[in-house]
Amino acid sequence: MRKPLIAANWKMFKTPAEATAFLTTFLPLVSQQSHAEVVLCPAMTSLAASIAAAAGSNVHIGAQTMHWLDSGAYTGETSPTMLKAIGATHVLIGHSERRQYFNETDTTVNLKLKAALAHGLIPIVCVGEHLEEREADLTAKVLELQTAVALEGIDAATAAPIVFAYEPVWAIGTGRTATPQIAEQAHKLIRNQIASSLTPAIAASTRILYGGSVKPDNAATLCCLEDIDGALVGGASLDPTSFAQIVLNSAA
Ligand code: PEP
Repeated sequence: MRKPLIAANWKMFKTPAEATAFLTTFLPLVSQQSHAEVVLCPAMTSLAASIAAAAGSNVHIGAQTMHWLDSGAYTGETSPTMLKAIGATHVLIGHSERRQYFNETDTTVNLKLKAALAHGLIPIVCVGEHLEEREADLTAKVLELQTAVALEGIDAATAAPIVFAYEPVWAIGTGRTATPQIAEQAHKLIRNQIASSLTPAIAASTRILYGGSVKPDNAATLCCLEDIDGALVGGASLDPTSFAQIVLNSAA
């Protein structure tokens, strides 16, 4: 019922030429698979080249962030209207690096989520606890709060496209992964919060991805469990063969 989604977060890597070269190698490797939806999120300057290179394929292209307003005097920002205009289909919202280095808060996540839905962009909302929070037994509180504020004021009737990504901050780029048990528990918490904030039916159909040091060799065990509906992949998504292996290995 929930089609797995495997998303790549390229962060501040790859020029347009490098993005195009990636797609030239990557597309044939995944062209026969249909079990998962595949999304690449390049840097803003490589979006257009990636969209052109992926045209007509089974791979979608999304942004790593955006502003919530359509236009305005916000130097350096990109609006949802602009992303739609060039053919982006998805957008990451509230990645922990945005929260940590660029003042992203639960409140701006909420504004961006509403804007994405209003503009027909598929939002991938990132939530996750820091190591100190996990060690202080605050994981449930953090995940429930981040999820609840993200969903504040969202009408359940518009919520179907929303995707969440559980990304424990201590597992991002560290080589440390959550165990499948830890991830499943966190995903259940997030799903229960979605049920309280919206409806149980929306919660049952919302995809929740796992992110944090997913690699080809752990994709099969981490990507697709009862409550895990795919993966958000950073480092291992930069190499086309490695990311294609993750997509293929995630087939249940
Ligand atoms: C990420 O940045 O979303 C991520 C999960 O990174 P990595 O796979 O490198 O841990």
